[in-house]
Amino acid sequence: MSERKPIEAWLTDMDGVLVQEGVPIPGAAEFLGKLKSSGKPFLVLTNNSIYTARDLKARLMRMGLDVPVESIWTSALATAQFVDDQRPGGSAFVIGEAGLTTALHDVGYIMTDVDPDFVILGETREYSFQALTKAIRLIGNGARFLATNPDETGPSAEGPLPATGSVAALIKAATGKEPYFVGKPNPLMMRTGLNRIGAHSEVAAMIGDRMDTDVLAGLEAGMETFLVLSGLTRQADVDKYPFRPTHTRASIAELVDLV
Ligand SMILES: [Mg+2]
Repeated sequence: MSERKPIEAWLTDMDGVLVQEGVPIPGAAEFLGKLKSSGKPFLVLTNNSIYTARDLKARLMRMGLDVPVESIWTSALATAQFVDDQRPGGSAFVIGEAGLTTALHDVGYIMTDVDPDFVILGETREYSFQALTKAIRLIGNGARFLATNPDETGPSAEGPLPATGSVAALIKAATGKEPYFVGKPNPLMMRTGLNRIGAHSEVAAMIGDRMDTDVLAGLEAGMETFLVLSGLTRQADVDKYPFRPTHTRASIAELVDLV
């Protein structure tokens, strides 16, 4: 195996790595504290597109985790960056919450249901039949179909919730058009994140609790990868994949000394 260079920048997934069901994972506060004092660039990533970075900062703060707003990178922010690169100053019909609409406004996008460049689907708490009908007709008329993330379900205390990927499947069935998913495992979300903090993939590491999103995206973006077993994945699951993480650790607590 080729020698990796020392890690100069860190990307880490949020759920299952730093927090779990509203509670910080032991070691998360120490890890973030160490990162901040090291001066190394870092980002906390989430595929959830409901919240703005400011909302997420406040939610993390309530759990005792202090993450600067500029160190939060959501699939909504990555999607806004993507459309800004692709069609600057364009327009979109959006199904989503403030996390997505704020990000799009911030890159100068116009929200419209009249001949938009894109139909952009994100996570929402309510899916309206009327909005879905509108999205399907606009895509049928030529609007390009984007979705913030492919996750089919999201977690809740009562059990799984249908998420963006499931609703995207509904729109795909009705239009015959495949969406382009910007969030993990698309390595684009890693690359745009790395660009944002001025880091290079060959000296950057990605930490995550899922093989099929975090580890895959980190690997495809050319980063060193750390799988932590504090979330969804068990050690026995790792061998089921045709790829492996660079390292596997029990939790973020075992990474504090690496920063
Ligand atoms: Mg996770």
